[in-house]
Amino acid sequence: MSSLRLADKVVLITGAAKGLGRGIAERFAKEGARLWLTDVDSTDGEATAHELDGEFRSHDVRDEASWEQLMAEIVEHAGRLDALVNNAGIFINHPVEETPVAEWQRVLDVNLTGVFLGCKHAVRTMTPQSRGSIINLSSVTGLRGQRGGAAYSASKGGVRLLTKSVALETAHRGIRCNSIHPGIIKTPILDPIFERADDPAALEQALAASLPIGYLGDPATDIGNAALYLASDESRYVTGTELVVDGGMTTGLP
Ligand code: NAD
Repeated sequence: MSSLRLADKVVLITGAAKGLGRGIAERFAKEGARLWLTDVDSTDGEATAHELDGEFRSHDVRDEASWEQLMAEIVEHAGRLDALVNNAGIFINHPVEETPVAEWQRVLDVNLTGVFLGCKHAVRTMTPQSRGSIINLSSVTGLRGQRGGAAYSASKGGVRLLTKSVALETAHRGIRCNSIHPGIIKTPILDPIFERADDPAALEQALAASLPIGYLGDPATDIGNAALYLASDESRYVTGTELVVDGGMTTGLP
């Protein structure tokens, strides 16, 4: 028997072209997962899938019809879906009084409705199998407010409780649903923040120094390992939990 922790498991990861989705895919590939990667960015998505020997499909998580098509295709080709990582997300930073409704809506559409659609269609696919693990990327901002992050925090707080509701409804069917709450992980989502800074290196140092652990997280090692635990059978008794991976950021007062 294989000692790989995801041997032969069929896993779908959204937003996998870069950043955390790519990092999770890299980690899962090392543990024998059969990867299905999706993203709206087909260029980087195809390249990532090619490197990791996975399938790539262009897919916007807001589009319900494409979720249906994707699930049907995975079941047809791979026979089942063992785990879904609802990772795709966007970050927009604006004070609440300057947030246009269209921007608020876009953040909620991608970050919350996209995750809802993933849960809905994964549950439909996993129910006849009587097994499956759904992993939703929330954030520390799903646990705490954030200046300039009204829409983002609202979306991530929504993901936190959506996850628990799905967990409650599906536990008896052998399906588990958990959320991951990353702190500051170095990915392209932070690019606009660094681009605006006069001295990006100094900003990175200051961010690192503000964390109890003293450094920013790494996509494949830190979030990849957390997702790996939740996708594997090692976490068979874990559902509805919120796994905080933040270097101590939300632990308490300094
Ligand atoms: P990223 O911007 O580096 O990558 C996000 C990926 O999602 C991109 O490849 C992008 O093309 C894709 N995407 C965007 N909109 C999409 C859509 N509508 N449909 C499908 N794909 C879409 O971001 P990241 O840092 O890798 O973040 C991944 C997830 O982790 C997000 O949900 C984010 O909110 C969350 N998160 C990240 C951090 C962090 O510090 N990096 C912290 C907390 C939570």
